[in-house]
Amino acid sequence: MARALAMVSGGLDSILAAKLMKDQGVEVIGICFKSYFFTPDNAIRMCKQIDIPLEVVDFSEEHFQMVKKPKHGYGKNMNPCIDCHAMMMKYAGELLEKFNGDFIITGEVLNQRPMSQNKRSLDIVKKESGFKDKILRPLCAKNLEPTDMEIEGLVDREKLLDISGRSRKIQMELAEKFGIVDYPSPAGGCMLTEPNYSVRLKDLVNNKDEIESKEIGLLRYGRHFRLGEGCKIIATRTEEESKGIKEFITNRDIIFFPKDFSGAMVVIVGEANEEDIEFAAKLSGRYSKGKNEETLEIKYGKFGKPMKNIIKVSPAEEEEMRKYIINC
Ligand code: SF4
Repeated sequence: MARALAMVSGGLDSILAAKLMKDQGVEVIGICFKSYFFTPDNAIRMCKQIDIPLEVVDFSEEHFQMVKKPKHGYGKNMNPCIDCHAMMMKYAGELLEKFNGDFIITGEVLNQRPMSQNKRSLDIVKKESGFKDKILRPLCAKNLEPTDMEIEGLVDREKLLDISGRSRKIQMELAEKFGIVDYPSPAGGCMLTEPNYSVRLKDLVNNKDEIESKEIGLLRYGRHFRLGEGCKIIATRTEEESKGIKEFITNRDIIFFPKDFSGAMVVIVGEANEEDIEFAAKLSGRYSKGKNEETLEIKYGKFGKPMKNIIKVSPAEEEEMRKYIINC
C-alpha cells in the first residue's frame, strides 16, 4: 500500500485532498504546521473528521525569518504564501523518510488564488521545496501534467479531480458527500492575511532588529501605539483580550488602570520615559468609563507587582492618539 503525507492546513481543500487519497486505498498521515501566525487547532479538528493521524511541526522561528523577507514577496497583506507553501513542502519532504512515505499531498487548487495558486506559482512552490517529483495535488491534478506517482500507478489519475478557479461549489458538494460538516471559512486561520494584524507586524519588523516571541504574541491583542523604536503601548478592547495579553507580558512591562473607573488594560511594552508613562495613563483614561472626566487618577506599576504609583491626567484626545496609533 502506498503511503502519503498530506499537508493539512486546517481548511476544507486540504482535507478533501487527503480524503480522496484515503478512499483510493492510500495510507494517509496528516502533517500540519504551527507558527507564530497560525495554530494547528483547525487541522486537528479536520483530521479527526476523516480519521487520519496528524503530525504537528513547529517551525515558528524559521517561518518568522522567512516572513520578514520572503523571496517571492507578499500577497495582499503580510502573507508570503508562495514562500510559506514552499517551506511547508520542504518540511513535509524531509519527513517522507521518517514516515517511510512515498509522496506528499496538498490541497492546492489551480487558479483559486490569483497570486499564489496560478500555474507559475504552483511550479515555483514545487521547485523551491526541493521535492518537486513527490508532490501530488489531487484536487486539480487533471489540470496538470501527470506526476510520477500517477505514471507509476501508485495512484489512479482517473480518480483525481480537475477543479480550477475560485468557486467552492465542487468542494462543498464533496464535503457533503464525505460527511465533513465542520470546516472553517477559506480565509480563516492565518493572521498574516488580516490587514490590521499585518500593519502591526510590519511596524514591529520595521522598528526592531531583535524581536522576542512575546512581541509577536502581543500583536493579536488590542489597539497598538508606537512611541519610539523600543516602546509601544497596547490598550485591550475586551475582557478576553485583557486575559489573553497576560500570557505575553512580563514584569518588565508596565500596566495601567483607572483608579476609580472600570476600563481597558493599558500596557507599556519596552523602555519607557516619563512622557511615555503619561501618555499611557491618558490612554487608560480615554479607554475607561471616566473618559468624559476632565481629569482622573490612573494607577500603574510593573506587571505582577503591587500598583503603587498614581498619576493624575486628562483622557487622551483623538488627535494625540492618531499621532501614534498603528492601524490601516
Ligand atoms: S495564508 Fe498564511 S499559512 Fe497559508 S500559505 Fe499564506 S502565509 Fe502561509
